Amino acid sequence: MSNWEANVRKVIPYTPGEQPNQPDMIKLNTNENPYPPAPGVEKVLKGMDTDTMRLYPDPTAGDLVHAIAQNYHLKDEQVFVGVGSDDVLAMSFLTFFNSEKPVLFPDITYSFYDVWADLFRIPYERPALDENFHIKKEDYFKENGGIVFPNPNAPTGVEMPLEDVEDIIRHNPDVIVIVDEAYVDFGGQSALPLIEKYDNLLVVQTFSKSRSMAGMRIGFACGNEKLIKFLNDVKYSFNSYTMDRTALAAGVAAVEDKEYFEETCNKIIETREWTKKELKALGFSFQDSKSNFIFATHATCPAAELFEALREQHIYVRYFPKERIDNFLRITIGTKEEMQKFIDFLKDYLK
Ligand code: PMP
Repeated sequence: MSNWEANVRKVIPYTPGEQPNQPDMIKLNTNENPYPPAPGVEKVLKGMDTDTMRLYPDPTAGDLVHAIAQNYHLKDEQVFVGVGSDDVLAMSFLTFFNSEKPVLFPDITYSFYDVWADLFRIPYERPALDENFHIKKEDYFKENGGIVFPNPNAPTGVEMPLEDVEDIIRHNPDVIVIVDEAYVDFGGQSALPLIEKYDNLLVVQTFSKSRSMAGMRIGFACGNEKLIKFLNDVKYSFNSYTMDRTALAAGVAAVEDKEYFEETCNKIIETREWTKKELKALGFSFQDSKSNFIFATHATCPAAELFEALREQHIYVRYFPKERIDNFLRITIGTKEEMQKFIDFLKDYLK
């Protein structure tokens, strides 16, 4: 009998939210943006010369790196790009979490972190959020092999004040602190200005939410030049051409349209605040969200039941059957019209 399975790298993979495809659906389950990407993106894609597909893309992703650097007033050498922030985060785990000591991230957080840690054999500990789902910064003041957390956190939507983020960075000069800002553009305060002050800080962001480009897969990291060089060394040891020509060109067009970006983010923030009021009136409670989703629990109706009832109506939200959060629904903010229909259904169902 052969025993090749003994040498297989076995992992329990991350489970992404489902991608149903019904014409009448209201899709509030994967934190996508309900608005299309900036108009310049369509123009760039329509004008693409397919003959260029013969050629490899720029391995440095120079144009996109430059556009992002310009947008955030950084040097090109302070920016790294990848295939969505999942790719950027995975590369960052591989590059910076290389110690025998445990990496720290919250018990309730983005559920890809423990998957990458397991995949790369990185030891980790998960300090518990407090009863209101807030990160307790003191939990991150002990010896560790690195730190990662989203701000605002997912799936809770809770933001940690920037002073507390800075406190964590300041207490950990000997390890890399990764702040995952996938949702920061919906009213959160970014740690980006701190990268000049702390050489152990890496800020990761994505085009998937605030720039409406989840399908294009663009993410980026900003940090000091040394960090970015180490990240690129690992990237070039893995795959030189992570970003394809279409993503590079479309990404530049998306960053360049600041007005559209602000307009769509503001619309989502406005709809989020309206949805909060409506949910409260219906008996839901939740911590204040600074993201494009609300993580809510109902006073009497179990989350699992609501999830199924909504699903039957082709209204998709996210439910995590996990300890501490199995009576909550994560509701992505859609258009005002979508949220109105969602609320109308709840009003009817819960009466
Ligand atoms: N970080 C957090 C906290 C997220 O919720 C997500 C979305 N699933 C990501 C990173 C990754 O997003 P993307 O790869 O689309 O940039």
